[in-house]
Amino acid sequence: MRPACDYLAGSGIATNRGVLVDAMMQTSAPSVWAAGDVAEAPAFPGPERVIAGILPEAVAQGRIAGMAMAGDAALQPYRGSVPCNTYGFFGETAISVGTGVATASADDAEIHVRHEHDTGAYWRIALRDNRLVGIAAVNLALDAGILCEVIRREIDLSACKASFIAEPRDTACRLMSRLWR
Ligand SMILES: Cc1cc2nc3c(=O)[nH]c(=O)nc-3n(C[C@H](O)[C@H](O)[C@H](O)COP(=O)(O)OP(=O)(O)OC[C@H]3O[C@@H](n4cnc5c(N)ncnc54)[C@H](O)[C@@H]3O)c2cc1C
Repeated sequence: MRPACDYLAGSGIATNRGVLVDAMMQTSAPSVWAAGDVAEAPAFPGPERVIAGILPEAVAQGRIAGMAMAGDAALQPYRGSVPCNTYGFFGETAISVGTGVATASADDAEIHVRHEHDTGAYWRIALRDNRLVGIAAVNLALDAGILCEVIRREIDLSACKASFIAEPRDTACRLMSRLWR
């Protein structure tokens, strides 16, 4: 997904792949904000900026841009986007949350791969410092929202690592029922 930003050439609004914004969705121009698919905004945990390209992040960014425009005292900076996608293809299901799972050599990430021949389930987990940075799976039931929160909260999985690798969904649900407050 690539937004059309050519029309901004010479406007003083800085662009890269999208319109560059800070954590308040402010562009490089005063009194101009951008949000959603057009915005290249901070990624979680940073420091890079990315086009999130999904609806929940567009909503979160739009809320911040609106509050910033209105000078709302309750304005909080954007937490940064965590990639989160689910798909159905040729009768299979797939899910991908976070980063660090695209290549086996993902920098210093600790990669765990499982494949169940009976069910066709495949999952791949990337941890860094015992914290989840990414998970991708085919034909395995996972809760994308919960896994996003496990990443965002940088939850230390040391105490339940083996169980998380074997049963990511149930372990993440158990963890978040304890920690959500
Ligand atoms: C096929 C497809 C499937 C997707 N599936 C998912 C999904 O399952 N989950 C998910 O989270 N995200 C999904 N997305 C992404 C999600 O739709 C976008 O991230 C989200 O809609 C971005 O919101 P936005 O407000 O930035 O842009 P948009 O929703 O594109 O809204 C931009 C609006 O601006 C209007 N506009 C454009 N130019 C002008 C102009 N010059 N003047 C006035 N109005 C203008 C457009 O008509 C449009 O209504 C999908 C996207 C596509 C294309």
